[in-house]
Amino acid sequence: MRLVLLGAPGAGKGTLASSLKNKFGLTHISTGDILREEIKNNTPLGQEAKKYIESGGLVPDDVVTKLIEHKFLNDKQTELGYMLDGFPRTKQQAEDLDKILVNIKLPIEQAIYMEATLPVIIVRLIGRRVCRDCGELFHIKNKPSIKEGVCDICEGELYQRSDDNEETIKTRLDVYVKNVTPIISFYEAQNKLIKLNADNDSAKLQENLIRILNEDKKLD
Ligand SMILES: [Zn+2]
Repeated sequence: MRLVLLGAPGAGKGTLASSLKNKFGLTHISTGDILREEIKNNTPLGQEAKKYIESGGLVPDDVVTKLIEHKFLNDKQTELGYMLDGFPRTKQQAEDLDKILVNIKLPIEQAIYMEATLPVIIVRLIGRRVCRDCGELFHIKNKPSIKEGVCDICEGELYQRSDDNEETIKTRLDVYVKNVTPIISFYEAQNKLIKLNADNDSAKLQENLIRILNEDKKLD
C-alpha cells in the first residue's frame, strides 16, 4: 500500500497512521518527523530547514520536497509500503511528489481524505497533548499517557499546542479546507481518492477504510 493521508488537524490522521503502521508495516512519512530528524542529525538539508524555522518562517516547498526525496532514497523500508502525512500541502507539491515517486517506481496508489466536522474536531483538539521530544500524540480522554504530562514512549514532556484552542481551530479548519480542495481534485482526477467520514471514532474509521481497500482489491 502506498498512501497519502489527508485530513484537517483533529480528523484523526495520527491515530489512523499508527494503526496502519502496526497492521500493514507501512512506513509513516511525516514532514514534521523528517524535519526533526534531519535537524537532529545536522545534515545539510536539516541546517537549511533550521534557518527558516529559527527565523520564524515556513520551510519552502522545494526544501520540503528535497527532504522527502531524501527520506525515500535512504529508507528502503518505504519500498514495502508507505503513507505520507502532512504532505503534499499544495497542488504544486502534489505534482512534484508524483514526479519523484514515479521516478523511483513507488507511485501513490490511493489518497485518503478524512473529513470531520467542526464540533468533533474541537473536542479532539482541545484535549490533545503532544510530546516535545518525539512528537507522539496523546489525548486527555481518548488516549491518556500512563503518567500525566509524560510521554509513554520517550518520557519527554507533553504539552498543549497554543493553537489548540476553540478560536483558532475554526480558522485553521477553514484554511485547511481551502488549501486541500485543489489537492483532493488532483487525486480525484487520477481516480485515487477515498473519502472517509472522520466524525466516526478511529476503530470505525479504520474498519471502513479496510473495507473500501478490500473492495478495490488493493489489499494483498
Ligand atoms: Zn515522546
